[in-house]
Amino acid sequence: MNTEGLFDNHGRPINYLRLAVTDRCNLRCFYCMPEEGIKYLPKKLLLSFEEIERLVTLMAQMGITKIRLTGGEPFVRTDLMDLIRKIITIPGIQDLHLTTNGILTAPHIPELKALGITSVNLSLDTLDRERFQTITRRDEFEATWKSLELLQQHDIPVKINTVVMEGKNIEDLHALVDLTRHKNISVRFIEEMPFNGGDTHYQKLNWTYHRILSHIKEKYPELIKVQDPANSTAYHYQVPGFAGTVGIIAAFSRTFCGTCNRIRVTAQGTLKTCLYDEGVLDVKKLLRGNFSNEEIKIELMKAFQQRPKDGFEAENKRMVTSANESMSTIGG
Ligand code: SAM
Ligand code: SF4
Repeated sequence: MNTEGLFDNHGRPINYLRLAVTDRCNLRCFYCMPEEGIKYLPKKLLLSFEEIERLVTLMAQMGITKIRLTGGEPFVRTDLMDLIRKIITIPGIQDLHLTTNGILTAPHIPELKALGITSVNLSLDTLDRERFQTITRRDEFEATWKSLELLQQHDIPVKINTVVMEGKNIEDLHALVDLTRHKNISVRFIEEMPFNGGDTHYQKLNWTYHRILSHIKEKYPELIKVQDPANSTAYHYQVPGFAGTVGIIAAFSRTFCGTCNRIRVTAQGTLKTCLYDEGVLDVKKLLRGNFSNEEIKIELMKAFQQRPKDGFEAENKRMVTSANESMSTIGG
């Protein structure tokens, strides 16, 4: 096991891997992908579970301790639980998290609890069934809500992810804050990012971190700032007396790059050392080529030593605009 830790060229620790296990999804959230004409990756271009297990094992040996499985919708890979059972036993992996839209999640919640999942991020942009359908283009609010209730019943820590969108869910923000009154959950409002698979609706960021905060304070002027966990991308707040917390993630404004501890592997098996880069290493090619574990680790380390200092530097180096990428391949 690695005891010294892994650092990038700016001295930032890297210990967190976010891995998109698929680009497929059972929703069509309009900020993430177009309604039609999505070109999913052929299945053979997705990493197999054996490849993922090998990659996570190598990264754990290098210093990665925390994994988040995401997608697309991770449970669209119907045997996802097989992967979770394997990853949770890899030496060095201390925390396993999931990001899911909750639609296929409920039946697996008892086993996730039994396996010791660290937390689940549930994406929920509205508490209104019709608005849910408008945003996700599917009528599945009840399934997501059921998963939230079951996660709570099983005492699994839950964070709700809400993308804040002009004209779509602003009327929900206060109600979502109110969810934290009795539920010990963290509701996190996310600035919308321009990763929507080429859909053209994104013009400019209307709901910045500051505007979201002001809006919440209109109803909850007593809101207080609370301590942010180490390396958190969210600024945390709480309404005094409420059970849960409220977070705001300045994903577009990129205020958190100085403490960024995360890397990503996309659904097509490409390493991103910054959310805003174009992909810096074809990990799938290495895993499928005739490379030893040590050779793969050397290539990974080279990439970790060329990390951009922030999301603006990464974006400036891009050859194509980020809007052509979908969050469903990046994983959020
Ligand atoms: N399908 C799962 C889900 O929705 O939770 C996991 C993958 S999804 C791409 C991960 C997260 O990215 C979700 O919380 C989603 O709201 C967020 N996301 C997707 N597109 C986004 C965008 N354009 N801007 C900000 N967040 C986005
Ligand atoms: Fe699917 Fe998640 Fe993207 Fe929505 S945000 S379309 S649930 S991958």
